Amino acid sequence: MQHTLQTSITLSGVGLHSGTDVTMILKPAQAGHGIIFKRVDLEEGQNIIPACWDHVVDTQLCTVIENEHGARVGTIEHLMAALRGLGIDNLLIEIDGPEVPIMDGSSITFVEEMEKAGLFKQSAPRRAIKILEEISVRDGDKEVRLSPSVVPVYSGEIFYAHPEIGEQYFEISLLGANFQHDIADCRTFGFLKDVKAMRAAGLAQGGSLDNAIVLDDDQVLNPDGLRCTDEFIRHKILDAVGDLALADGVILGKYYGARAGHEMNNKLLHALYANPSSWTYVDLYIDLEESGQFIYPQTRKERVTAA
Ligand SMILES: [Zn+2]
Repeated sequence: MQHTLQTSITLSGVGLHSGTDVTMILKPAQAGHGIIFKRVDLEEGQNIIPACWDHVVDTQLCTVIENEHGARVGTIEHLMAALRGLGIDNLLIEIDGPEVPIMDGSSITFVEEMEKAGLFKQSAPRRAIKILEEISVRDGDKEVRLSPSVVPVYSGEIFYAHPEIGEQYFEISLLGANFQHDIADCRTFGFLKDVKAMRAAGLAQGGSLDNAIVLDDDQVLNPDGLRCTDEFIRHKILDAVGDLALADGVILGKYYGARAGHEMNNKLLHALYANPSSWTYVDLYIDLEESGQFIYPQTRKERVTAA
């Protein structure tokens, strides 16, 4: 079934790239409304931006959506991931700036605040997109694909020639509270040399060790270190959940991304909608978020150890 929040939530924080303070109010909305952003600092009538894959205009550093009047909102992916992770379908998100606050660089603050507000179950079924045959996009050594699966599964791999990262694989079923338990608190990451270049280009103005993992050539610079050794790939999976939450239904299929990012994830949605015979809409009356016990995924390392 569809869900919204029991009550409104107000959140404030800095925008990662703009560096400006933003306040956001998440307001409950009726069934069928979807997730819609409203830029309250812009002119009424031109400030509504639906959180939809075909409104994505930039995927370089974060996912940015824009409407036909040029009103845009960026860095939506960690909030969108929290909404999909908790199973929230309908909200009006009023925001007074161009970027969702970065909070701690993960989805955990959004999750905790929404759990505190409580979910409200609505009387309409949730729309799902059931994958019937594999859809994939390749670009050099990058690959993303969706394949048939009875439950939503997100998997992926990254490869970095860095002693703290290396090769990491992760897989999660979006059932029960797996999202909250396994990936919600995994933070975005960046390399010190890139951060310096981004700052010089006017980007990452709000970035700090409080809202991202930062690495130099050898190590993690955050004084408290990592939240888990494979926090990097877990965050990439969190990003994929958020990016694919811009589809117009819960994707019932298995996502796999190798060296993927926001750009590849958006290309995958374009490929999905360009291949309507590869999937079908279905109505979901059950709540995946309430389905049974936690299903703990294993990392590749754990699988190798266990074998
Ligand atoms: Zn991210």
